[in-house]
Amino acid sequence: MTSEEIKISKSLENGIEFSCQMCGDCCRGFNEGEVYLYKDDILRLAKFLNIEGEEGLKKFAEKYVKVINDSFFWKEPGATRGKTYKFKTLGFAFTGGDEHCHFLDEKNRCTVHNARPFQCRCFPFWKMMVTSRKKVIEYSKKCPGLQASLKGKGRYYDPQEIQKWANAEYEMEKKYFLKIKGKNFDILKVYPFLPKKKLKEVK
Ligand code: SF4
Ligand code: SF4
Repeated sequence: MTSEEIKISKSLENGIEFSCQMCGDCCRGFNEGEVYLYKDDILRLAKFLNIEGEEGLKKFAEKYVKVINDSFFWKEPGATRGKTYKFKTLGFAFTGGDEHCHFLDEKNRCTVHNARPFQCRCFPFWKMMVTSRKKVIEYSKKCPGLQASLKGKGRYYDPQEIQKWANAEYEMEKKYFLKIKGKNFDILKVYPFLPKKKLKEVK
């Protein structure tokens, strides 16, 4: 698949209204999912938190990061068929009984808002959501902002903006996939600062 093939669902062709209601549930991975982290996210957060050098990144990874399983469909240029590759990537390690992001405060505010990861930034315009009306409805059961959106309430986003977010997400995933593929799927070669013991904690 290429980003050009990401086609937003018919239901979004006239755009959509959406405003976050700050319930914080997506900062708890909706109690089931993950908040993905890519290299640019980690470097931006480290800078925001005044974390410096490889030692600083090690400490950051120790506290805030976990390794998660991921997959990506890829077709080599010129090949007739592609396949789904499985590999490891990074996400936020959650904390507390309600498994929340370390950067969520008690009033459900993001304390790193200006440096938050791309995945937080582009919600709800994740590729899987914008290509499937079914997914929007499924996630509206977990997100009050989307519930209101289905009733036409919130800030208006036009289809070009929605498409832009979905493409950017795909490109980010692809960039990471090609990087780890080039390193024979060894995540420690992509993130040398990652403590090895984190690999043993993968579920
Ligand atoms: S679940 Fe929806 S309403 Fe709640 S914080 Fe996330 S985006 Fe906002
Ligand atoms: S970085 Fe901010 S927006 Fe993202 S999960 Fe954490 S608290 Fe939520």
